[in-house]
Amino acid sequence: MQHDQVRQVDPEIADALEAETERQRDTLTLIASENHVSEAVMDAQSSTLTNKYAEGYPGQRYYGGCEQADVVEQLAIDRAKELWGAEHVNVQPHSGSQANMAVYIAALEPGDRILSLDLTHGGHLSHGHHANFVGDHFEVQHYECDDETGYVDYEGLREQAEQFEPDMIVSGYSAYPREVEWERIQAAADAVDALHLADIAHITGLVAAGEHASPVGIADFVTGSTHKTIRAGRGGMVMCGEEWAEAVDKAVIPGMQGGPLMHNIAGKAVGFEEALTPEFEEYAARVVTNAEAMAERLQERGLELVSGGTDTHLVLADLRPSHPDTTGKDVEEALEETGIVLNANTVPGETRSPFNPSGIRVGTPAITTRGFTADDCRTVADCIADVVDAPEDEAVLAAVSETVDELTDSHPLYE
Ligand SMILES: *Cc1c(COP(=O)(O)O)cnc(C)c1O
Repeated sequence: MQHDQVRQVDPEIADALEAETERQRDTLTLIASENHVSEAVMDAQSSTLTNKYAEGYPGQRYYGGCEQADVVEQLAIDRAKELWGAEHVNVQPHSGSQANMAVYIAALEPGDRILSLDLTHGGHLSHGHHANFVGDHFEVQHYECDDETGYVDYEGLREQAEQFEPDMIVSGYSAYPREVEWERIQAAADAVDALHLADIAHITGLVAAGEHASPVGIADFVTGSTHKTIRAGRGGMVMCGEEWAEAVDKAVIPGMQGGPLMHNIAGKAVGFEEALTPEFEEYAARVVTNAEAMAERLQERGLELVSGGTDTHLVLADLRPSHPDTTGKDVEEALEETGIVLNANTVPGETRSPFNPSGIRVGTPAITTRGFTADDCRTVADCIADVVDAPEDEAVLAAVSETVDELTDSHPLYE
């Protein structure tokens, strides 16, 4: 991890890389979309496959010399099929957003209608936000979470679908603490003859390990990121039934990408191999119990949680009821000083701006990778609550910093 080769050529970048490793070691990553991959995954991602052009698919490439690229991509595909049970998998999308783009290209025409969750209710930019290309190319309407319960308003979604008659309904979210009821969304899609894209970017690892119900076999398309809870090489993937296989593959290349990032696909394959072990199942189960412990303690400390708790890897706290004068950004910035890194987040029924929203999002995937227990998570929750109560109190911040140092020292990373 010393980046000696880089240092000989480029000390400025070597310094930054080393400092980044230190940062990850010495702080608590509570950003729900982040994780710490194994050194084996990083080893694969920094391999000579970064040099290789492999446009096409295993056995059908536009370039010579693809024997090893074929081996690597086929293993990534086979392992993904084993993990998620999909008939067809494309592991080439450069990211989760690209995976969604591939589905839109494969299944929709410009101007078609998409019904997806509002961004401020936990949706994702790539689901048709007006600032994203999807919003320009398609006609998009958003469904919402119920402001009172924090759960997806499935009934409202169904009624909206009947009025809007979308060509595609998108499910799967970025800041949703509860288990998604895939069948109810599928029923709404079936009722209006719409396709269903389930984007499991955040919960790929939980679904693979059986900690969250799977939309594979229910939705027409399932997309995901490969670097979040599944903890593999960075990128995206698309899963679908055989009937969509050719359209999806053509959408990825030549439709929207050139050469695949073969070194990242190697990282996906290695991470998937790790995810096929019983240790990964234990990890995923602990991610959820740790989030539950965190949720309970935050509630004991007087914080209100969207939906009243969690079934997943993340907790969303709405600061308005308990701390009406404190914003998510205030808390995010104060916590960063103590070495706790999380993000401010909008909440259902948001009354502030997306840049300074009313909530904070707390995720357990990365600290669980470091070996944090439920007790450790209660300690972290106390740290968060202490700072929420007194974001400007230097003595509180100093005490929390000390606790963070103890926690990071007792759970080392990348030694
Ligand atoms: C993270 C995420 C994505 C994809 O993100 P990338 O940063 O493009 O990999 C897509 N959908 C959802 C719901 C996400 O949370």
